[in-house]
Order: sequence, then C-alpha cells, then structure tokens
Amino acid sequence: MAAHPRYPRVFTPLDLGFTTLKNRILMGSMHTGLEDIEGGFERMAAFFAERARGGVGMIITGGIAPNHEAGGGGKLSTPEEAALHRIVTEAVHAAAPDVKIVMQILHAGPLAGTPACVAPSAIRSRIGRYTPNELDEDGIEKQLADFANCAVHARAAGYDGVEIIGSAGYLLSTFLVEKTNTRTDEWGGSFENRMRFPVEVIRRTRAAVGDDFILIFRIPAMDMLEGGMSGEEVIQLAQAVEAAGATIISTHFTWHEAQVPTIATMVPRAAFAEVTGRIRRHVNVPMITSNRINMPDVAEAVLEAGHADLVSMARPMLADADLVNKAWEGREDEINTCIACNQACLDHTFTGKLTSCLVNPRACNETLMPVLPATTVRDLAVVGAGPAGLAFAVEAAQRGHKITLYDAAGEIGGQFNLARRVPGKEEFSETLRYFKRMIDKLGIMLKLGTRVDADLLAAAGHDEVIVATGIRPRTPDIPGITHAKAVPYIDAILGRRPIGRSVAIMGAGGIGFDVATLITHAGPSAAVDIPTFCREWGVDFVNHPRGGVTGLVPQIEKADREVVILQRRDGAPGKTLGRTTGWTHRLSLVRRGVKMLGGVTYLKIDDEGLHTLVNGEPRLFAVDTVIICAGQEPERSLYDALVARGLRAHLIGGANEAAELDAKRAIAEATELALAS
Ligand code: FAD
Ligand code: NAP
Ligand code: SF4
Repeated sequence: MAAHPRYPRVFTPLDLGFTTLKNRILMGSMHTGLEDIEGGFERMAAFFAERARGGVGMIITGGIAPNHEAGGGGKLSTPEEAALHRIVTEAVHAAAPDVKIVMQILHAGPLAGTPACVAPSAIRSRIGRYTPNELDEDGIEKQLADFANCAVHARAAGYDGVEIIGSAGYLLSTFLVEKTNTRTDEWGGSFENRMRFPVEVIRRTRAAVGDDFILIFRIPAMDMLEGGMSGEEVIQLAQAVEAAGATIISTHFTWHEAQVPTIATMVPRAAFAEVTGRIRRHVNVPMITSNRINMPDVAEAVLEAGHADLVSMARPMLADADLVNKAWEGREDEINTCIACNQACLDHTFTGKLTSCLVNPRACNETLMPVLPATTVRDLAVVGAGPAGLAFAVEAAQRGHKITLYDAAGEIGGQFNLARRVPGKEEFSETLRYFKRMIDKLGIMLKLGTRVDADLLAAAGHDEVIVATGIRPRTPDIPGITHAKAVPYIDAILGRRPIGRSVAIMGAGGIGFDVATLITHAGPSAAVDIPTFCREWGVDFVNHPRGGVTGLVPQIEKADREVVILQRRDGAPGKTLGRTTGWTHRLSLVRRGVKMLGGVTYLKIDDEGLHTLVNGEPRLFAVDTVIICAGQEPERSLYDALVARGLRAHLIGGANEAAELDAKRAIAEATELALAS
C-alpha cells in the first residue's frame, strides 16, 4: 500500500511476528473508575469500542490487579472475573477486528491502599496510606504466580495481550531502587538482584501465556527520584526484560511521589521521547513512547526522529475518540485536542470520581450520552461563544439543529482567550481552533461583534435562546476599589493597564494563581521549550543522571517584581487548585519568589497601597498595584429580560452559576443540554 502522504510512519503497520498492529498509535492505559462500578463493564465496552472504531491500532485498558494485596478496583484472578471482561474484548473486536486490546496488570505494591499491601521492604511511600508488608520468599513466589495467573485469565477473556506496569512506585519498581528495596537476599542489593523480580514476572508470564500473546513491559525509563535508576540500569533492565520474553517495551516517566510534572499542560509536547529513543538503540523489541503527545504531527515527528516504534496517546483518546481516523482522512483540524489540564481525568481518578474529559464530557459516558439526530429540527440562538456556548452550538448543530451563535467580542472563546495567554496554558488555543473549524464545517451562523439584547432576539424569531453569557468579575466592596492602583484581572491579563514592580493579588483562586504566573514570567514558557522546562524543574534528559534529576537544582528565572497572593480564608492559598496540578503551580510560583498569605481582611486601597488586617493585626502592603481576582458573578441580565418577555430561554455555564465554575462544568452542562434538545 502507498505510504500516507502526511503521516507515513504513523500509518505503517508493525509486524510483531505472530500478529500485526495496523498503525503506530495506541491508546495508553488509564484508570477510568468504570472497573469499580455496577454496570461498569458495559460502559467500558462502549467506551473502548468507540475508540476502536476511531482507528487506533491498539488499546490498553486501565490497570487490573492480579490479587487482593495488589489493590485497585478491578481484580482478575478467577474464571468468573474473566467472564466479566468478555463483553469488553468482544465489543472491541466486533467494532474493529483489526484493533488489538491489551489488559494492563497493575500491582500497586506499597500504593495499594490496603493494609494487606506488600513490597520488597517495609518502607512506606510518601504518598502511601499504609506501611507495606515485607514479602518473604513464599510471598514473592505467590506474587510471581499471581501475575502469570492473571495473564492466563486475560487471555481466556479474549484479550490480545497484557501490559505489566513496572514503574510509577508500584510493586515492580520498588524492587528496582535502593530507596525502597533494602533486602540483602537475592532480590535486593546489587542491581542484578534488584531487577530480578520484574524480570522474573515477565519470564513467568511469558511461559504461562505462550509465544503468540502480546506482552508489554512498562519500564521506569526515568523515575525522577533522587538516587533513582541510572540510564545504564534502565538499559540493562530493558535488555533483560526483552530476553525474558517481552514483545514490546513501553517507557514510563516518573513515580507518583516525584516532584516533576510529567503530563500537565506546562510540560512541552513529546518532551520525554528522546529518553525512549536512547533506550531503543539498545534493544531489538519495538518501543513505545508517551507523555504529552497529543496530535498526529507530534507522533509522526517522534517516529521520524527514531525515538520510538509506537506512540501512546492516552488522554488524547478521551478528548477525541476519532483522532486517528481524522489524521488518516486529513481532517486533523477537526481533532478535539487534549489540553493536558487533568481536570476531568486524573483529578477525578485521584478523588475517587469516574474519569471523563473536560473537552469531551461524553468520554466514559457513551452509553448515557448518545448522540442522536434531532427529532424536531429547531432554529436556536446561542448567545455567548465561550466554552459553554461553543460546546452547545457544535453538539446541537451536529444533531441537525439550525444554530446562530452570537458574541459581543470580535473572536470566539470567551475567557479561554484570557486563559491561553497564561504561560503553560498555550494548549487552550487548540480548543478554540477545534471550535472554529467545527463552526465552519457545520454551517453555524456566527455573529461576532454583536452584543445581543432581548429586542434583537425577539425580532430574529428564533425558536429558543441558549444564554451562555458567562460572568462578570466580582468587585469587592471596599473603599478605594476604583483607585488607580486597583486593576481588574482582565485588564492585567490583556495588558490594558500597567502593572508595577510590587503587586498584591487579591484572591487566590485559579485566576489569582494564573495572574501571578503571567506577571512573574520571564523568558520562554517551559510549556513550549524543552531546555527551559528542564532548567525550571531540574531534569536532564540528555545525560540522564540517576532518576534524571539527581544533583540538579531547579533554576527559575525570577521576575523583576515582588508579588504576594492573598486570600481571606485561613491557611495556605492554593488548596482549591486541581488535585494533580495544583502543586506544580504552587511550587513554581514559590520558586519565582511569590509570597502567599491567608487570613487577610481587606480594609482599603489608597496611595499607600493595600491596607489589611492579617490574623487581626493591621498590615499595609505598600504595593504599586493591587490586582483584583476576587471571583466572579453570573452575567444573567439577558436571560432575565428574555424570560420577562416570555421567550423560551435556557441558561448554561457561568451565566447559570458562577460559583466553582470552570470550563469542565461549562462544557458538560452545554453538552448535556445540546444532546437533550
Ligand atoms: P465565558 O467564557 O465567560 O463566555 C461568555 C461569552 O459571552 C463571552 O465571550 C462574552 O463576550 C459573551 N457575552 C456576554 N454577554 C453577551 C451578550 N449580551 N451578547 C453577546 N455576547 C455576550 N477553566 C478551567 O476549567 N481550567 C482552566 O485552567 C481555566 N483557566 C482559566 C484562566 C483564566 C485566566 C481565566 C480568566 C479563566 C480560566 N478558566 C479555566 C475558567 C473558564 O475559562 C471559564 O469557566 C469558562 O470560560 C466559562 O465559560 P462560559 O462559556 O460559561 O463563559
Ligand atoms: P475562585 O476560584 O472562586 O477564587 C476567587 C478568590 O477570590 C478566592 O481566593 C476567594 O477566596 C476570593 N474572594 C471571593 N470573594 C471575595 C471578595 N468579596 N473579596 C475578596 N476576595 C474574594 O475564582 P477565580 O479565581 O476567579 O476563578 C474562576 C473559575 O475559573 C474558578 O472557579 C476556577 O475553577 C476556574 N479556573 C481554573 C483554573 C485551573 O487551573 N483549573 C485556572 C483559572 C481559573 P477568599 O474568600 O478566601 O478570599
Ligand atoms: Fe486531556 Fe483535560 Fe480531557 Fe484529561 S480532562 S483528557 S487532560 S483535555
């Protein structure tokens, strides 16, 4: 077959000897939470089948435990449990017989969240709930047997293979480093001894499943631990795992307890791929790379550079199930790109909620949110082209409704046009590119620069109006709030007002932190420049010191500006930020010299600065500028006017409820209404 004109490497099949992968993009493993709920397997089947139809070559499921002590939700160790998985494997193979589905076996070791958890040594992880039970010789033998047993049942359940995770601070990786393995027997001490357990897991599993079954080992390619694995040790392990029978080696970066962001939106695209490439030169089996590869051109570039044989995209497949088909058909501008926010995926996983996606709320909800053609086609006006209005307009137009989308601004995007100016949030522009393209494609009538009122809408004669008019920034009622020193956050972000050398930020929500990032930034954004990322987070991809980080001190260029972030409630600011990304924002601001303070009562702003009480004591912040980031209130006047005139109207997004509003809620609310309209 002729090579694909734009993505020749992505669309070259990979012959594994006993089977073939039809292309080089796979959906990486993600815990969805569906494994743990009633009816979850049916939902998982629909979720994976939609991705199989979307053209991906191979799907790897979320982690399944091989026994009780391995923790996690789903376990597979019996024929009865295997029977539950059949619905998933059959759905995927029925949807696309040429797509492989591989089950990940996850033994969480000391992170298992059960008092029965086990590890090579009784050393509690910084993020673990329990001190693990040290495995004795019988215990080690049992774990080895349980891995093999789990893989045998996976095969019986119809999977095409298994992936064994040997990274992240889970069981296998805790054998590999001295920090968690202090044994003096044959499973500890020298590196040969420390890698014995993971290698033996692969050997036993291969022996149990036979030669014609995909066996992937997820290697801790760079564990981000002080004193972690050296580059040479990683290569040694890769070679040993290959010899033990792995079909493919997949690179994984970081342990969960490490303090380097590896998938957040502030990480540059494909930043880690060259580490995979270095290991790849020393093995003969195909290698998978991952992390922040979210578009087909990035995948193609990684393959072209020789960094990997296969590219894993996990979150991008939540964001757009059809990503691969769209690349194949030259419709990449229609890809709804993962912006790496973690807000509806990893943040949900770590707070016990089901996984979904900020830009695609149907992810993992396919059975609950089917997209059906509208039974009655209606003429709908959508007012506001922020995330809520855009999501409604596109979903409703796809169902066949006639849509007119109005916005007072000269461009679509609403507050996303502010968000994307923040260093580290460059990806937000992709969401707007997607919406722009879909507006064109679906023939949505776009009326920009049009501030809409009830008269205009009544005259236009639409059947219904969807009010997505967003928010108004909250203006705290304190003396001096209109003083020249007081600057609303919108003016600060858009550069409409000068910001002085010393700044107090009033309000420590997401916007307060983003404004602090913006005004303390100097030099290129780490999100788009790998050397800057490495410098700011203390990582060396090239020389690969132990763990990639040993002996390196993060170096952030400090801005020539003193900034303090304030909040009224007691305690450290930043607690409301995202579970998996908040720490990165806090840490990078602290490293930039930004101060943070809670327990503040605002008294007034005058020529001297911001007068406050801090824990009851008077305190003057003698600053040049006070940036107001004090939350938001719903902009609902249009809705009230429409209702007063008896017009049919619906409220979505910030206009509906501004408290705890984010784009996740705005888009989800809009999508639900559009699918029901
Ligand atoms: P908006 O985005 O406010 O859009 C409302 C639109 O309505 C505007 O375009 C406005 O011009 C238009 N409009 C209003 N009245 C009229 C009228 N009468 N006629 C015509 N048009 C009208 N959220 C996240 O989830 N994650 C983040 O990381 C994140 N970062 C952010 C960073 C910053 C700096 C900011 C400011 C916000 C951030 N947000 C983030 C919040 C997110 O952008 C909002 O929650 C989201 O934009 C709300 O969407 P919306 O459509 O309801 O309203
Ligand atoms: P927010 O998160 O609600 O924070 C508002 C801040 O203002 C808080 O610190 C609040 O804390 C303070 N405040 C509230 N009322 C005040 C008043 N009357 N006077 C003075 N201070 C007051 O809202 P936001 O920062 O404006 O962000 C808006 C939304 O966008 C958020 O809900 C957020 O989810 C979303 N967003 C998300 C991200 C992200 O990275 N995920 C980034 C940006 C924005 P105190 O009351 O304790 O002072
Ligand atoms: Fe990507 Fe954010 Fe969706 Fe997660 S929630 S898949 S990070 S866009």
